[in-house]
Amino acid sequence: MQERFPAPEFDSPTGSVFPPPAGRRVYCNRNLRLDQVKAVGFDMDYTLAVYRQAEMDRLSIEATVSKLVDRGYPEELLAMKYRTDFPIRGLLIDRKLGNVLKMDRYRYVKTAYHGFRKLGREERRRAYHTRRLRPGTGRYHWVDTLYSLSEVAVYAAVIEHLEPRTDTLDHDQLFADIRECADLSHQDGSILDAVLDDLPRYVDRDPDLGLLFHKLRSAGKRVFLLTNSGPEYTDAVMSYLLNDALDEYPSWKNYLDYICTFSKKPSFFTDKAPFVDLETQEESREPVRGRVYTGGNIAGLQRALGFAGDEVLYVGDHIYGDVLRAKKESTWRTAMIIQEMDDELRVLREHALSFERSDALDQMRDAVQDELREHQARLKKVERTLNGHESGPQRATWEAKRVRHRRSIDRLRAQLKDLDAERSSLHDVLDEAFHPFWGSVFKAGNEVSSFGSQVEQYAGLYTSRATNLMQYSPMHYFQSPRHRMPHENGNVPGA
Ligand SMILES: [Mg+2]
Repeated sequence: MQERFPAPEFDSPTGSVFPPPAGRRVYCNRNLRLDQVKAVGFDMDYTLAVYRQAEMDRLSIEATVSKLVDRGYPEELLAMKYRTDFPIRGLLIDRKLGNVLKMDRYRYVKTAYHGFRKLGREERRRAYHTRRLRPGTGRYHWVDTLYSLSEVAVYAAVIEHLEPRTDTLDHDQLFADIRECADLSHQDGSILDAVLDDLPRYVDRDPDLGLLFHKLRSAGKRVFLLTNSGPEYTDAVMSYLLNDALDEYPSWKNYLDYICTFSKKPSFFTDKAPFVDLETQEESREPVRGRVYTGGNIAGLQRALGFAGDEVLYVGDHIYGDVLRAKKESTWRTAMIIQEMDDELRVLREHALSFERSDALDQMRDAVQDELREHQARLKKVERTLNGHESGPQRATWEAKRVRHRRSIDRLRAQLKDLDAERSSLHDVLDEAFHPFWGSVFKAGNEVSSFGSQVEQYAGLYTSRATNLMQYSPMHYFQSPRHRMPHENGNVPGA
């Protein structure tokens, strides 16, 4: 469950504490002046509506598995063990070999599982390190949304369960079937109806959402909703989130200038679909305030807003559909909601001493390695000299030097071994604290993960929940930490 941080005092222009506590902070990859933002748009699912992940996964997994059984998969799958905590965002499915992979930013596979069995170093190397991996091909499938995590959970569980019982499991076909059954569960209402029947069970209602919208409006900003969900579902969820939030706003619609549903992102950013008024079914080129639309396109919405692209901030959770496409197809600024940050920040906080120790170990390792190389070079020199002056008068001195260097080398090698052992067990403990299977979502070993790298590249801002934005004054200047390239470190005057 997500950790709740104390609600900020609304009267304070910059929130009650500044800077806000880590879990309430908005992190910045690219400088952004909030006073220059004239309109703020929000996606709905997993952005304004924070779903309880384990509950949603259970629902999707069970709906998907029951459809697999309808298609002829063995009935015993209905009782198989699955783990909602197996998948994380940013994984890659290898449909050919039936493996689930986590890569670093250079597409180097750091961790891989087949079912729930972790691949050993050699098996991983043979499968992925001897040829360049091409994630864009049909063999691989990105797991980049929270609602698709359940597909990974089913894939691993079915492989784990069926493989010992059959030798004809087609990993590619299995994944195609899971994808179809999961899509079908969304389309036929198996999932959405269950959510609508019991919203409090599936949606974590953020009590500050009304205040966030009110604060943005009071600062003179336009606010809009841009969601791929259908209008009825949107109405039910938004009513649940906002209808009783503030007296001044009797309906959720009162908070919003423009409401676009069924928006078909990412093609919303590229195509020219008309805005269709939900009530009258009339088509128009741009939306009008107070009406609910389906369809639409970015050019029409921007005309209605009357602002340039870089004056619009769009807040979404989907790296591809919300953040990457918005960034590539328009000049909209982006903020990404990353629910996983609550857990990541908790681990960073609770294990702060271990992270410090890990840094110290890295430094000690570097120093020991330098010293070791130095002794090895000197030993070589001594040995060359000894070989050239086998019977000279200095021989005894050189012999003594050789013994000294050899002893130092042995001592340093032993130190290095101890440091490596401590470092590796410390890293295991920290990885386990982040996630029992995959470690941190943002990192892969000492490198940034492929997911972390996409966040860095495409999300101007990122934070754990939308209401964290109201911790900041509407005039706030978000500044990214000044980035230094490796050659600048130590060479910049005053650094
Ligand atoms: Mg979403």
